[in-house]
Amino acid sequence: MNIFSPITTLQGIGPTRAKQLEKLEIRTIYDLIAYFPRTYEDRTKMVDIRDLETDTPACFEAMVVRAPHTAHIRKGLSITKLTVADMTAKLDLVYFNQPYAADQLRYGESYVFYGALSGDYARFQMQNPVFELPDRPGTRTRRIMPIYALTAGITNALLVKCIHQALDACLGEMPELLPERIRQKYDLCSAREAYANIHEPKDHEALDRARKRLIFEEFFLFAAGLRLMRSRRTQVQTVPYRDLSLQAFYDALPFTLTGAQQRSICQIAEDLAKGTPMNRLLQGDVGSGKTMVAAAAAYLAAKNGRQAALMAPTEILAEQHHRSLSALFERFGIRSALLTGSTPAAEKRQIKEALSSGALPFVVGTHALLTEDVTFRELDLVIADEQHRFGVAQRAALSEKGRSPHLLVMSATPIPRTLALMVYGDLDISILDELPPGRQVIDTFLVGESMRARINAFIRKHAAAGNQIYVVCPAVEESEFDSIRSAEVWAQSLQQAVFPDLRVGLLHGKLKAAEKERVMGAFSRHELDILVATTVIEVGVDVPNATLMVIENADRFGLSQLHQLRGRVGRGKDKSYCVLFSSNKNQQTLERLKALCKTNDGFKIAEEDLALRGPGDFFGSRQHGLPQFKAADLSLDMALLNEAKTAAEQVLADPNYVLDPTFPAMQTRIAAMFSKDGNTFN
Ligand code: ADP
Ligand code: MG
Repeated sequence: MNIFSPITTLQGIGPTRAKQLEKLEIRTIYDLIAYFPRTYEDRTKMVDIRDLETDTPACFEAMVVRAPHTAHIRKGLSITKLTVADMTAKLDLVYFNQPYAADQLRYGESYVFYGALSGDYARFQMQNPVFELPDRPGTRTRRIMPIYALTAGITNALLVKCIHQALDACLGEMPELLPERIRQKYDLCSAREAYANIHEPKDHEALDRARKRLIFEEFFLFAAGLRLMRSRRTQVQTVPYRDLSLQAFYDALPFTLTGAQQRSICQIAEDLAKGTPMNRLLQGDVGSGKTMVAAAAAYLAAKNGRQAALMAPTEILAEQHHRSLSALFERFGIRSALLTGSTPAAEKRQIKEALSSGALPFVVGTHALLTEDVTFRELDLVIADEQHRFGVAQRAALSEKGRSPHLLVMSATPIPRTLALMVYGDLDISILDELPPGRQVIDTFLVGESMRARINAFIRKHAAAGNQIYVVCPAVEESEFDSIRSAEVWAQSLQQAVFPDLRVGLLHGKLKAAEKERVMGAFSRHELDILVATTVIEVGVDVPNATLMVIENADRFGLSQLHQLRGRVGRGKDKSYCVLFSSNKNQQTLERLKALCKTNDGFKIAEEDLALRGPGDFFGSRQHGLPQFKAADLSLDMALLNEAKTAAEQVLADPNYVLDPTFPAMQTRIAAMFSKDGNTFN
């Protein structure tokens, strides 16, 4: 058996269990050793029977003083009872459906048990405590017990046993991938020590050290991977842009750009003049004016005789962009076109021809633009709007459309700066941290069910004034387990019972694309008064006439997501409002929601979200198309993440690193990490 043998080489793992384990993505001994516990149960505390408590499990050593007796109550239910005692007290133990307990627990013998009391003062007892002999090292008691995420057919005990076997046989083969001097500098234990202690921690200190090492390792790999991608990119040569004058562009705008917009445009212009492909993220809150920054970039491309494409995640957004940009570009004699799934065939053909001949310098569209049979003479600049829909993988795929085109991705999901540096390690970042002047503040209220009638009246008032309303629900369909609002049911009941005289529409992700477009179109043409929707409206939808947003079960959403949703209103001249419904009583949850009522600043809200919920949420949501982190989810310590990143950069900066004995292992792991995300990385 070696570390890459299939798990069937372990005792007790046949084909059936191997299949079940595959659901946990465990196929080899290595996979098993790299399967980290979800959490731990501290079974290290030994107490006297007298000091046992209800609901707080602990270990105690006791002798069986009344032999087990099993009663078969009915088919499928047996109860085994016995009494144990130590120097301080006696205790009745009860086992349900565990007749083998009666065979194993012998009268007059002592065992170590682990369990919590149940019952009351009148008659304490303990149900189903685990037990083992006291003269051997504990496997189920007197230890920190790892608890694994399970799947059908696989018990925690089975995993504990198999992993013990695997560690016994193969731990010595676990490769070290952190260079010696890095381990010394950051006080990190060896890979072997870490893998042994993450599963079978000697004590809390050993567990902490194992965790620290594994989190560090994971981020080290991640940062190194991003860094390698970046260095590969900067080796590519491009022809620098020569004409960087933007005065005519600025003069044509009906407003003055904000300082942040100008700064970002300058950063982009510098990238374009550099001679290596740009790879830049433009982050800016909803309404901060990202489109104009993108327009400036496209303008420069056209002025330099290059082709540019602006890609939006939905047809609605693509149309919006086209509407605002084509008129502007016409003034400079720059032709542009819109290409989506709905473009009539004849027009589509013309646009495609013009793109492949190079006659058309600028095109706006959905990502069909880049996957269909569209060819460019030379695509030199790709701009992707609402970046969080595209992962690291898609970013790479995009660049393959041209010959290493410049890439600008735009995101309205503010990520705290500290995290962004890590998450977007392969991108340069520009931030629009300033809104155009005169932006209105959206008044936000947190309310409970008692306010329902008043909010309904408020909805009616907005509709009567000729404005429109969004109602957002966390779920699409009714679920029997949850009391959360479903968009389908809620839309129906609003239409039938509450607002029979108003026009209510329904929009959610399970609708066909054409139906979505139809509903959205109807709402933007004001053929609907109320749009009941799920978070599908989160991204970029722009209906300036909408002035009220009501969010049901607001506690179900992340703060940044709520902020994003709220950005759908306040886009026109009329005063706008956001109402958050929540019947949640949890103090911390309410604090979170109140933070949203207090500020309209997306970055502040993201920082707050980070402080309240921890970075796990940012990584967990998979919104960023990042690899899934395994160890890092256990606990996240910003300082440690930063150290790992610095270390990775230091190590890679040294050209002799390829000679380090840890190099091959690192390379293999990085490849695995990024390829899981659909990336090719070699
Ligand atoms: P987002 O960053 O959310 O994509 P947009 O680019 O859609 O924001 O801009 C929102 C609105 O603000 C648009 O109507 C745009 O024309 C306008 N706008 C952009 N920049 C400025 C500015 N500097 N001053 C005034 N209005 C601006
Ligand atoms: Mg936008």
